Amino acid sequence: MKICGRPFYSIAMHPIAGGLIYVACCPSWLKYPYDKYRFRVKETNKGIDFEEVWNSNELLEFRKSILDGSYRYCDKKACPNLVSEKLMDIPEKATQNIQENNPRLNYFPIQIAANIDHACNLQCPSCRSVPDTCADPKTYQRFIDILKSGAEDIFFNASGELFFNPYLLRIMKSFSSKDYPSVKIFRIITNGTLLNKTLWYSLSDDFKSLLKEINISVDTFSEKTYSVIRPGGSFTNLQKNLKNISDLRRSGEIVNFRLLFVLQKNNFRELVDIVKGSLDLNPDGIEIRAVANWGSYSDTFFKENIRLPSDFQSICSGDILEVKKLINTSGVPLLSDIL
Ligand code: SF4
Ligand code: SF4
Repeated sequence: MKICGRPFYSIAMHPIAGGLIYVACCPSWLKYPYDKYRFRVKETNKGIDFEEVWNSNELLEFRKSILDGSYRYCDKKACPNLVSEKLMDIPEKATQNIQENNPRLNYFPIQIAANIDHACNLQCPSCRSVPDTCADPKTYQRFIDILKSGAEDIFFNASGELFFNPYLLRIMKSFSSKDYPSVKIFRIITNGTLLNKTLWYSLSDDFKSLLKEINISVDTFSEKTYSVIRPGGSFTNLQKNLKNISDLRRSGEIVNFRLLFVLQKNNFRELVDIVKGSLDLNPDGIEIRAVANWGSYSDTFFKENIRLPSDFQSICSGDILEVKKLINTSGVPLLSDIL
């Protein structure tokens, strides 16, 4: 039986009212609702207790579902690893646990998906129904706790916009490897609207040298569609920033640059343009996912206004074929749960 290694090295954190929840994997790849396998810890002034989180009953239950091969909390249609049948590698440290069928781990997370604040300069209908531009001051200490946790690989901040968050910016500008020697890799996800040259060169050299992956969620290359699905963002600035980032990648200052798209009712007809526009920027990878309801909307509203049509695959069969040809010719990897 093949085992997915991810819950044995990684944890995802997400902000909810008054605190953080911890999930064993990306919530958009898991079955809804998450109650059985997400853990909420009360934050105290002692900081995040990773021991309490990592071997909580909820995370143990999740790991059991992997060890027994049922994958009962994983969404087999949404998890790209299950769709492509390429499960994540098992870390060496977990070998004994897996042989002994033991979900309790005696080491801390190696990778943390640190989604720790919702504040964002945009208000995309796919993500939120009300604006949230006020960063939580707790973000600073949360991030310091994560840097000190011993994790080697830190991926942030899919819950909001990290370059809009003054607390995260402060850390990214002053980060020194001497203070956090265990951190070996940063990976980020940003909407790209604020990542101009001035901002890039204001980040600390240590932060930039550990930044091994920049994911930019773009969603569309059409200015008209952008104003609908990414309200609050400047399409012109984003285009300039994408060009700069692509140039930095060419010059080797950035090592891995990926473009992300959430396919939804208002952009699915642009599928071919999305892939062509992406390939023009020479990314290292493209990711196209179907929009998911994160609880911001009622099911009815979501189905009527945001979700992809249920017959998307047949409506777009020609476009999907064209996209596959473009991708095959380019050699750029495409990760997708729907193509
Ligand atoms: S199979 Fe997919 S959803 Fe399940 S734990 Fe692994 S990566 Fe996560
Ligand atoms: S840019 Fe990202 S975090 Fe911000 S509102 Fe849009 S989808 Fe949400």
